[in-house]
Amino acid sequence: MERIVEIGIKRLEWPNREEIPFTKDPKANDLLNDIAYNPHVFVLACLMDRQIKAEKAWIIPQKIFDIIGSHDFKDLESISLEEYKKIFTKNKLHRFNNDMAEIFYKGVNSIKAKYNGNASEIWEGRPRPSSALVVYRFLEFYGCGIKIATMATNILARQFKIKFSDYFSIDISPDVHVKRVLSRMGFVPHNPSPEMVIYKARELHPEFPGVIDFSCWEIGREYCLATNPICNECIVSSSCKKIGVPIFITEPAKVPNAPSALYAEKFGVEISSNWSGLIGLTQIKGKTKRYIYTRISWSDVIVRMRIGLALGTDYLIDTLIKTGHVWEKHSHSAKIPDSWKT
Ligand code: SF4
Repeated sequence: MERIVEIGIKRLEWPNREEIPFTKDPKANDLLNDIAYNPHVFVLACLMDRQIKAEKAWIIPQKIFDIIGSHDFKDLESISLEEYKKIFTKNKLHRFNNDMAEIFYKGVNSIKAKYNGNASEIWEGRPRPSSALVVYRFLEFYGCGIKIATMATNILARQFKIKFSDYFSIDISPDVHVKRVLSRMGFVPHNPSPEMVIYKARELHPEFPGVIDFSCWEIGREYCLATNPICNECIVSSSCKKIGVPIFITEPAKVPNAPSALYAEKFGVEISSNWSGLIGLTQIKGKTKRYIYTRISWSDVIVRMRIGLALGTDYLIDTLIKTGHVWEKHSHSAKIPDSWKT
C-alpha cells in the first residue's frame, strides 16, 4: 500500500473527532463543527464554497447570522430571496452575490422541504446510507456540483466520523495542493486534469478514493509548498519521486572563487563559474553536452534554477539564451561522467 494511502487511513481511524478550523473565527468554527445541533450551518457553508477562497466561503453563514441576529433555522427560513440578495450584495459576501444568495435561499428551503429542517437527515438514518446516496443528496441542492458534494461527504466521513455503509463514491477533490503533491510524488504528470487525479486516487484506494484527500492537503500545506518544499521533513519523503522539485544550492558564496562543478547529478545540470566570474551551466543530454556562460548573478542563477528545474532544464537554458543572458554557448559530444548517471 502506498505511504500516502496509509497516512490517510490512519487519519480516518483516529477515534476522536477533532474540531476543524474551517475559518479563523472561533464562533463560526463552533457552529460549523456543531453538526449534531446545527447541521444546516455545515451544509449551507459547503454550498458557498465556490470560486472564492474556502475560508471566505465558510464564514458566510456566520456573517449572515451576525446580520440577522440569529443562527436558528426557523429565522433563516423566514427570509425571502430578495432579502438574501440584499444581504449578500450590501455586505459583499461573495464574488457572485446574486447567484450565491439564491443558492443560500434555495439551500435553506430544500432543507426545510426535504429534511423537515433537520439537515443531519442527509447523512443519518438506519440502515446507514451509502456514500453514493449522501453524495447524491448533496447534488440535489441547487448550485451543488460533484466537487462540493464529494468534499462535503468526505468531511463527514473523515473528520466528523459519520459512518456510511461504504465509501466507494467519495472521490478526491483535486485542488491545487492535491495536484501538486500527487504530481511531485510521481503519481500524475505536472498539471494533471481533475479527472486524472480522481481516477488515480480511485486506483490507489478504490474502497475510499478520497481517503488521501486530507493527507495530500496536509502535506501540501505543511511541507510540499509551491516554492521551497521541505522535503527533508516531509512525512512521505521516503516514497516521493520529487519530480520537478527545485534543488537547493547551499553556500553559493563560496563558488566564485572555486570554478568547479556544483550540481549535476539529479537533473543533469552542472553549475560552475569561470575565472572571470561568469556563471556556467552545463547540461548533458544523451551524448550531447551543451554549456553556456551567463552574465547573470549568482542569486539570479539560484532563482532561475529553482524555476527552471520545476519546468525542466531545457526551459531554463533556452530561456537564458532567448533573453540574451548568455555570454557564450557551446554544444558537443560528451562522455557522461559516471557520477552524473542516476
Ligand atoms: S517529499 Fe518533497 S516533493 Fe515529495 S511530497 Fe514531500 S515536500 Fe513534496
